[in-house]
Amino acid sequence: MTAWTPKSWRVKTAHQMAEYEDKEVADKVLTKLSKLPPLVQSREADRLKTLLAQAGRGERFIVQGGDCAERFVDCEQGRLEQQLKLVLQMGLIIEHITGKPTVKICRIAGQYSKPRSKPTEEVPGFGEIKSFKGDNINGFEPKDRKWDPERLLLGYWHSAATLNFLRGYASMGDHTPIQSINVSDMKSSPEFASFSEDAREIFSKSLSPEQLEFFTSHEAMQLDLEEALTRPAGDKFYNLSAHLVWIGDRTRQLDCAHIEYFRGIKNPIGVKVGPSMKNDELKELISILNPDKEEGRLMLITRYGAGKSEQHLPGHIQAVKESGVPVTWQCDAVHGNGVVAKSNKLKTRLVNDIMTEIFEVMAIHKKCGSILGGIHLEMTGQCDVTEVVGGSMNLTEEMLTKNYETYCDPRMNYSQAIEAAFKVGNEMPA
Ligand code: PEP
Ligand code: MN
Repeated sequence: MTAWTPKSWRVKTAHQMAEYEDKEVADKVLTKLSKLPPLVQSREADRLKTLLAQAGRGERFIVQGGDCAERFVDCEQGRLEQQLKLVLQMGLIIEHITGKPTVKICRIAGQYSKPRSKPTEEVPGFGEIKSFKGDNINGFEPKDRKWDPERLLLGYWHSAATLNFLRGYASMGDHTPIQSINVSDMKSSPEFASFSEDAREIFSKSLSPEQLEFFTSHEAMQLDLEEALTRPAGDKFYNLSAHLVWIGDRTRQLDCAHIEYFRGIKNPIGVKVGPSMKNDELKELISILNPDKEEGRLMLITRYGAGKSEQHLPGHIQAVKESGVPVTWQCDAVHGNGVVAKSNKLKTRLVNDIMTEIFEVMAIHKKCGSILGGIHLEMTGQCDVTEVVGGSMNLTEEMLTKNYETYCDPRMNYSQAIEAAFKVGNEMPA
């Protein structure tokens, strides 16, 4: 293997990245980004690594979640508050029920770059146009689909504003909004009484600084952007645009650019593991990404789909054991569970499938003598979003058209996600 540098990925094949026609503008933007201050500190990334190591050993449980594609238009006070509150509250719920501390990671302040299954799409009135690839790359409106490098700077400003607001919000004196869990949409659940009692108890206690601690994360897809925010700390390099960055299921090819970039940064990192991952490939991948066998460095985010975990996970667990590389296992229970609603053709997911995958994965880890360290969901703190079907609020397929906001994958709404946290807490091994 040749020596790693923040730009050594450039000689490898890069999948999914936007390429810019106007190289001069792109260079100017990237030069500017490389001079702007980092968004997070390397010691914060180190702290997250310590917490992820604990989750890998079963001493802590990770709640990671947020938008599929974070939108620049959602960078406003109310929405950001709701988004952070949701993740923190899910952590509080699981902690309260299980007595195990949690670690809260938001898909926020930079989740603006999306890999897509197809580079183009047919849009009536516009013909075959480029697919939307996240606000960092192009606009959602069909007329704005050109890849525009200036958007990378907009992404930085939005990330900075988001992070600045959230850090202040989480450290303010009055934490009652964070402790106020709203269970009113779960009245039809047979477990409503126990959810309400838990919510009351959580409200009655004061919060410790650790319970208010949160971390940021995004899929590091657009590597020229990530390189510009990769900074030295002593003799090491960190991606200081987020605490944790992950490799998507579409960009994890062993000899390609993303693996090359990720192997050299010192952040804790994630990698998505889907049904196409071979056992031997996984072994090789984790040895490249965690050669020093450091606990907390590497999180494997499995996303097989409900009913498919039994086919893939035991083999993956065995491969990891044989490699001797420590990993923290996380269950992304959304990306293998996409369906198209029959009545309106909207992309959706069923709460039941999401819960089934989490419970299945929990049981398989237990059976295989392994540990599930946390969950990963696409969700929004907005109560009225209608993108996912089910939950005790009984969101039906027909209701999806009411308030379908997402630019990319469908997200659980506030009540669906909070209910999931209660159920996960209740199902977790004591
Ligand atoms: C995502 O997390 O939004 C995503 C695209 O996931 P995956 O890479 O697992 O498909
Ligand atoms: Mn997604």
